[in-house]
Amino acid sequence: MNEPNVGEPKKESVDFIRQQISADVKKGKHDGRVVTRFPPEPNGFLHIGHAKSICLNFGAALEFSGRCHLRFDDTNPCKEETKYAEAIEDNVKWLGFSWGDHLYYASDYYQKLYEYAVDLITRGLAYVDDQSQEEIRANRGTLTEPGVNSPFRDRSVEENLALFEKMKNGDFEEGRCVLRAKIDMASPTIAMRDPAIYRIIKRVQHHRTGDRWCIYPMYDFAHCLSDAIEGITHSLCTLEFVNHRPLYDWFLEKLEVPHRPQQIEFARLNLNYTVMSKRKLLKLVEEHYVDGWDDPRMPTISGLRRRGYTPEAIRAFCDIIGIAKFDSTVDMALLEHCLRDDLNRRAQRVMAVLRPLKIVITNYPEDSFEELECVNNPEDPEAGFRYVPFARELYIEQEDFMEEPPKKFFRLAPGREVRLRYAYYITCQEVVKDADGNITELRCTYDPQTKGGQSADNRKVKATLHWVSCQHAVPATIRLYDRLFVKENPDKTEDGKEFTDYLNPDSVEILEECQLEPSLKTATHFENFQFERLGYFCVDTDSSMESLVFNRAVSLRDQWAKFK
Ligand code: ATP
Ligand code: MG
Repeated sequence: MNEPNVGEPKKESVDFIRQQISADVKKGKHDGRVVTRFPPEPNGFLHIGHAKSICLNFGAALEFSGRCHLRFDDTNPCKEETKYAEAIEDNVKWLGFSWGDHLYYASDYYQKLYEYAVDLITRGLAYVDDQSQEEIRANRGTLTEPGVNSPFRDRSVEENLALFEKMKNGDFEEGRCVLRAKIDMASPTIAMRDPAIYRIIKRVQHHRTGDRWCIYPMYDFAHCLSDAIEGITHSLCTLEFVNHRPLYDWFLEKLEVPHRPQQIEFARLNLNYTVMSKRKLLKLVEEHYVDGWDDPRMPTISGLRRRGYTPEAIRAFCDIIGIAKFDSTVDMALLEHCLRDDLNRRAQRVMAVLRPLKIVITNYPEDSFEELECVNNPEDPEAGFRYVPFARELYIEQEDFMEEPPKKFFRLAPGREVRLRYAYYITCQEVVKDADGNITELRCTYDPQTKGGQSADNRKVKATLHWVSCQHAVPATIRLYDRLFVKENPDKTEDGKEFTDYLNPDSVEILEECQLEPSLKTATHFENFQFERLGYFCVDTDSSMESLVFNRAVSLRDQWAKFK
C-alpha cells in the first residue's frame, strides 16, 4: 500500500523550516549535510500530532538527501516501557518512513552524558543543590521577579565532584539533591535560572539499562547533547521549547561537543473533538474509557490505522496543514477529507446492507440466481469488475423504504419503481407485516428488460439502491464510530469538570446482523472498502472468516468540502 511518493520534493509552498534548511545547505552550513531526528519518549503510543513531526523530520531529510534518526528519548524510567518503543517503530514504518541504521536511545549516551556533567562541574558551571524540590521551586522566582541563589551554589568544584560521584553511586536517597547548571538566577528566561540537569531515581528499573544508573539526566540536558553526539544539523521541535533554546545553545557552547546542531521550533498540531496529551490518552486506556491504545476512536496512529486510515491519507493531511510558527486547531473534518480523497481513488466498491429489510422478487424464478457484473471502482478503470450474485430474495436497507413517503423521499415505496445498482428496476407491490404490524418483507416485481440497471425505453427512476442476495450474503458485525468527545476542545474544562466528562456516550454503535456481498468473506485485516452509498469501511483486527467485523472509517459525506 505504501507508495514511494514519500519524500518527493514539495511543489507548492515551501514552509519556513524547509526554506531555512535550503538556505543552510546553499551556504554550506554543517558541510551542506541535513540530519534530523524524531525523538519520541517511549511512554505511550504516537498520535496524529507525532505524525506531523514524523512527516516533517523524515520528509525534510529525504527532500534534502539527508537522513533522519529515530531516537528514543528514554530519560525518565518511571513511565517508559519497551512495548511503547516497539509500537512507535511500527508506526513510523507504517507511515512509510525509514531510519535505516540510525536507531538510537538517549540511554545509549548515559555514560557520555555523565562525563559531560562532570565536565560542567569541573568548569565551575554546575553544582549539587541540597534544597528540596519545593525550595527550588519557591526560589526560582517568577516572570516578573528574579530567582534567589541557592545557599549551595558556591560549593567548590571538588565538593561538587565528590557529591555528584556519591549521587551516581547511590549513596543518597531519591530527592536528596540534584545537579544544577550554574547559569543565572536573575535571567529573564526562567529556563536559564540554574536548571536541574540530573536527578536521583531509585524506585524503578530503566527499560534498557535496568538498575545500572540511579541518576538520570533531565530532558534539556540530554536532548541537545544527544543531538550533538549524533551530528544532528536541524533539531526540529514544537513551540513550547522556544524558551528553552537559550539553554540548548548554552550547553553546546560551554561543552566541547562534536557538532553544533540548531533548534528550530514549529507549531504543534491540535485537532478538535479529541485530546492529544499522552497523559490524557493513557488515562483513557487505563481507565477503560476506550479499548486500548489502538481503539479506532483514538487519535493514535495505531487507532487511526485500525479505524481504516491509510498512511497516504495521513501524509496528505500533514502536507496540507503545513508547518507554521503559530499554534492553531485543525478541524477533524480535514483529516476525514484526506481519507475520503485517498480511498475514493483506491478503495474497492462493494455492497453491504447494514440494517436489512428482505424483499422477494415474485416474478424472478425460484431456485435460480445469476452473477451480475459490478464495477470495482469507477474512479479507476484498471480496477475492473467483479460478479455479484442476484436472486429472488434480496436484502435492501430498511431506511430505503417508506410505506408512506413524505414529499422528498424518492426511494422505494408501495407502487414505486427504483433501480437496484448494477441489477434491475424493481417495483414494490406489497408490504407484508407480522401480527404486531412490523414490516417483515416487501413483495416486488422486476423488469427483466432493465438488466445492468438500464431501461431500453429510458424510463426514469429517482433512486438507486444497494442490495445483497439473501442466500449468498455473509453476515458481519459493523461498528459505526462517531467523535470521541462531544466538546470541540475537551482540554478546556469548565469548573469542577474533567476532560473525561466530555466523552461522547454514543461514540460507537455496534450493528450485529449486517449482510455483505460474498466477496467480502476473504477480506483481510486493515483492508479498506467503499460500501456503496454508506461510506468507507475497514476490516477490524477482531475479524475472522467465521465472524467478520468491519469499522466505519468515515462516511461519504464530506463536511470539509461543504465548508470550503
Ligand atoms: P507529552 O504529551 O508527554 O508532552 P510529547 O507529545 O511531547 O509528550 P514526545 O514523545 O516527547 O511526546 O514527542 C516526540 C516529538 O513529537 C517531539 O519532538 C514533539 O515536539 C513532537 N510532537 C509531540 N506532539 C506533537 C504535536 N501535537 N504536533 C506536532 N509535533 C508533536
Ligand atoms: Mg515531549
